[in-house]
Amino acid sequence: MNVYDSEQILQRLQTIGYRQCDSPDKADLIVLNTCAIREKAEQKVYSFLGRQAKRKQHRPELLVAVGGCVAQQEGGRLLERIPHLDLVFGTHAVGRLAGHVERIRKNGGRIVDVDMDGGRAIFDGLEPLEAPAGPSRFVTIMQGCDNFCTYCVVPYVRGREVSRPPSQILSEIRVLVGSGVREVTLLGQNVNSYGAKEGYGSFADLLKKVSGIDGLARIRFTTSHPKDLSDELIDCFAALDRLCRHIHLPVQSGSDRVLKRMNRRYRRADYLDKVGRLRSVCPDIGITSDFIVGFPGESDEDFADTIDLMRSVQFDGVFAFQYSDRPSAPASGFAGKIDETVKKRRLAELLDLQETITLCKNRALVGSVQQVMAEGPSKKNYFQETNRTALWTGRTPQNRIVHFALDTPTPGEGMMAPGTILNVRIEEAFSHSLRGIPELERPNQHGRKGVDSHAA
Ligand code: SAH
Ligand code: SF4
Repeated sequence: MNVYDSEQILQRLQTIGYRQCDSPDKADLIVLNTCAIREKAEQKVYSFLGRQAKRKQHRPELLVAVGGCVAQQEGGRLLERIPHLDLVFGTHAVGRLAGHVERIRKNGGRIVDVDMDGGRAIFDGLEPLEAPAGPSRFVTIMQGCDNFCTYCVVPYVRGREVSRPPSQILSEIRVLVGSGVREVTLLGQNVNSYGAKEGYGSFADLLKKVSGIDGLARIRFTTSHPKDLSDELIDCFAALDRLCRHIHLPVQSGSDRVLKRMNRRYRRADYLDKVGRLRSVCPDIGITSDFIVGFPGESDEDFADTIDLMRSVQFDGVFAFQYSDRPSAPASGFAGKIDETVKKRRLAELLDLQETITLCKNRALVGSVQQVMAEGPSKKNYFQETNRTALWTGRTPQNRIVHFALDTPTPGEGMMAPGTILNVRIEEAFSHSLRGIPELERPNQHGRKGVDSHAA
């Protein structure tokens, strides 16, 4: 989500002549887009901003701005705390950013804008980047959240849930596809409740419309709230070819007692039931999840329920976090805070278990052929690079990362274009990735066999 927001910030600044540069030392304007979801992320904001003081001493004309959730949460307090800060713009102020920067450039002074208009205006002027980097892009379909999980800051810093009109979403995707994008990820805090308030039709309806866009090869979405995961949406995994067979379905805890105190509004059995339905409709679906360990009052028994749920679901991957107090979220006032060492131990146990599960699932794929969308040259080098072999990286529909060797002179050159979908035979499995060899036949004038540009 933050990647998308950062792109939007860049886009707005480009309208007043700014360009992205490769080092803060060369910048005339430094914009920090922030996240307040966990305490650690927030601490990083203050240390980064602290470091800008020196830069500004050397170059007083440099402007420093802070946007995103921490800006929304702290507002004017940030200006008080950080004397060299020029601009604080909240989560609903991105559309007004360029105007604020121009005003400060012209008249000097400092500005705080944390107004939350709360309406659809938040989507006005959202536009795809002029030159998309790579074949895969995020597209926002809603903002804010109405769920009020008791640990979470999002409803306070992002505001109430608002869905973006389908016509805007579809036209943004068409523009993206026109500029070479082959995969989109539809973004929202809870995409399953898309359009409910506005009467836009269901999220499944939106998916059906998006999957009718010519030239789009793959569709993904995130995030899904288990309580709103409908049978209609589950059926899309069987019905829509271009919908990637992956769902990120955060469960947070395997204990009913904890889920209740988190205000998640589903029980462990409901979650397991939905997982069962997903797998019966789409047996090879990849299921990933989020967990919080050490929520206030989480007993050893509650945590054992979480471990038990992980064992029974066998997730394809998880993100897990130690609970941290967010001052505006109700759980910060809950009794039964868990010791940091206990949280750390629980997190390590959970991640260890998942590592074993993922490795085992990845090993089961050795010898299989996976459809991989090539994203670009790989950062990792599992192969001995020769002047004839380049290492690329891509993803399967289930969102597994695959590294594969390509017979091209230089990464990025030759026959291969990012966004190509190719069949890769898996030869080796690791806990976070797979490695394989593309099954390519010799190219001819019709292109390559074994390269499928449509199926997910
Ligand atoms: N809207 C998404 C998640 C958004 S936040 C959803 O409902 O699933 C991403 C993840 O951060 C959450 O799933 C949760 O696991 C974690 N998280 C949120 N608040 C947290 C907190 N106070 N402490 C630790 N982890 C937190
Ligand atoms: Fe936060 Fe819950 Fe909303 Fe997700 S659904 S953003 S965890 S309040």
